[in-house]
Amino acid sequence: MHPGGPAEPFTYERKFGKNDILVKISHCAVATGDVQIINNEWGDSKFPLIAGHEIIGIVERSGANVMKLKQGDRVGVGYQLSACFKCKFCRDGNEQFCLQQKVVGVDLPGGFAQHIVADARFAFKVPRKLDSAGAAPLLSSGLTVYSAIMRAKLPKHSRVAVLGIGGLGQLAIQFLHKMGHDVSGFSHSPGKAKLIRNLGGNYVNSAAPTVDSDHIRKFDFILSTLNVDFDINSYLRMLSPEGKFCVVAQPLNKMLLSIGLLYDYAQRSVFGNYTGSRRDMAGMLAFSARHDIQSMVNVMPFSQINEAIALIKSGKVPMRLVLDHSL
Ligand SMILES: [Zn+2]
Repeated sequence: MHPGGPAEPFTYERKFGKNDILVKISHCAVATGDVQIINNEWGDSKFPLIAGHEIIGIVERSGANVMKLKQGDRVGVGYQLSACFKCKFCRDGNEQFCLQQKVVGVDLPGGFAQHIVADARFAFKVPRKLDSAGAAPLLSSGLTVYSAIMRAKLPKHSRVAVLGIGGLGQLAIQFLHKMGHDVSGFSHSPGKAKLIRNLGGNYVNSAAPTVDSDHIRKFDFILSTLNVDFDINSYLRMLSPEGKFCVVAQPLNKMLLSIGLLYDYAQRSVFGNYTGSRRDMAGMLAFSARHDIQSMVNVMPFSQINEAIALIKSGKVPMRLVLDHSL
């Protein structure tokens, strides 16, 4: 009801359009991004709000224009809920750049609810092989890292690194490994070594004193999921001459980048990736089903939503948290 406040029940009504579906929500993940929206950390949250942007549920009703989805289908809904479908970006299949897009929490209510009315063009059939709880985090975290990897256009058997092994990083390692790349997972906590190996990566202790010299000019691609301060220059030195560094999360402070590292004996580049397109989402879900990729999750009943939010705030959650209405 107000910035930083607890979750409490309320009802709202939304007009049901021709392109809409009514989804009975079964699962919704709780992420740091939701807490940031609840706390109005970006300054654009609208209250009362309903956060929750990794949603899975069953279609109960579909509008007259909806052909692809029908009653009973299991669908996933992510952060982006609509686009204009007319601008250059939309026409090119990059709806994620549409300036008229609507997103959870800022423009429209999200998934910490019984139901959601969603534009069917931003709802995606969940492949049967995927478990609802394990698949929920794919809808935003999975999409973000999968589309970042697609943008990098990696040659086969590339040497790649993932920085930060949280909700985004654990999925990135799985995608890259199943695509056939040689993956290193960087973390300052040796407690993550076993997890990284289980996901298909090699563990690198980013706090080790020799980490810079051990990996100089080694990687074709580095994906950073870090949201804490780090020295980007030491990682740029680890990139091979045409290597690419991609960021999908934002550290606390501005960082100093030594521009010379982009061209001295090299042709390195740095780019960012913002969520993904609808095409990326469909590709990511199909790839995940084919290669059995899911997020590692702890499942809690929806009634414990405030406990789940408190756990996220404490920063002590090793896995992703997913709320389940059936518990
Ligand atoms: Zn548009």
